[in-house]
Amino acid sequence: MMLIKPVNFVLHRSEIRDLAEKIAAGIRLDEADALHLFKTRDLNALGLLADIANRRRNGLKASYLLNRYLNYSNYCILSCQFCAFSRKKRDADGFELTLEQMVEKARAALSLGITELHIVGGLHPSLPFSHYTGFLRALQALDSRLQLKCFTAIEILHLAWLAKKTVRDTLLELREAGLASLTGGGAEIFQPSVRKVIARGKENAEEYLAVHRSWHQLGGRSTCTMLFGHLESLGDRVDHLRQLRCLQDETHGFTGFIPLPYQPENNSIPVKMPPTGADLLRTIAVARLYLDNFPHLTAYWVGMGLRMAQIALSYGADDIHGTIIEEHIFHMAGARSPQLQSEKDLVKAIREAGRIPVQRNTFYEPLRVWAESESMAIAGTASGGDAAPSRALETNLATA
Ligand code: SF4
Repeated sequence: MMLIKPVNFVLHRSEIRDLAEKIAAGIRLDEADALHLFKTRDLNALGLLADIANRRRNGLKASYLLNRYLNYSNYCILSCQFCAFSRKKRDADGFELTLEQMVEKARAALSLGITELHIVGGLHPSLPFSHYTGFLRALQALDSRLQLKCFTAIEILHLAWLAKKTVRDTLLELREAGLASLTGGGAEIFQPSVRKVIARGKENAEEYLAVHRSWHQLGGRSTCTMLFGHLESLGDRVDHLRQLRCLQDETHGFTGFIPLPYQPENNSIPVKMPPTGADLLRTIAVARLYLDNFPHLTAYWVGMGLRMAQIALSYGADDIHGTIIEEHIFHMAGARSPQLQSEKDLVKAIREAGRIPVQRNTFYEPLRVWAESESMAIAGTASGGDAAPSRALETNLATA
């Protein structure tokens, strides 16, 4: 009830007033509505609606997780045009971690309290299927509580090809070795003609969705993404969200949606204007309103910076992702964010945004809800944010 007066005041004059009434009545938005929201110039009214939708679902809680990224290799048999990460064997800056290196990095991160390893790589030209089940087993053996969130849909198709098994049987074997969740990467944009220009050779939308459907049908959970702000139209974004919402209606297997702003450097796609701050917030807000069957929406600080992710918590997001520790994919594409965030800086960002910080696990389940006095104490300490990630973590672990 506290919200009603200011809501009505802002929305009364807004060009999206009719949709506000639809949302208030609990009527599901259709694709024309989503497009209308993408086109509105009234960002504040849009954000207000998304914030109300988020609060209805998640209250004032906003989450983060303690995780570490682990890229086992950047060698890839494909050459997606937008990708600044992949290398060929002839390239001097290609890399491939040994099992011992992966275990060592994981062990160091575990000593700092991480609960998740997020593992992706390129489609390696020669590693056998047993290499992947081998590293899953070795990493899981470090700590049975460690959650292994691994592989994009295209990696799963590659692994199924290596294993000479169906996707379903491949997923079962990976799960038996320790796979806890699929990652959401690789969705890019589903629209075929744009996908062909930015990621020729990659799986199509049906294949991406089929991998996630199979995983969900096995009882698994995953996240999903959308790469935006390159060559796609706003209609293409709506179509992408539509396909994700349809699968979620069918399986309810997505735990969260993570919009990824396009990074313009070190690739061959002619994008003059990467996503602006307003576009980031608009996309998050529209996603929150249209994806009404998604429990969570993550503002990915690596792609947008922690300060913008913090603001996104008032535009429909309820999560700002994790500590990450060592990120290659966005940084090789020109991201200016730091390599990692300390838990202190994540908690501080959430608290200063007026939300209750919650440490979560891979499945967005709460592990720790910060008491107000604890998080206020952190928020009162010297400024961190994008400019000053934890020196201790940086010294110990930033090995990129
Ligand atoms: S996006 Fe993935 S599949 Fe495409 S080139 Fe890069 S690493 Fe390979």
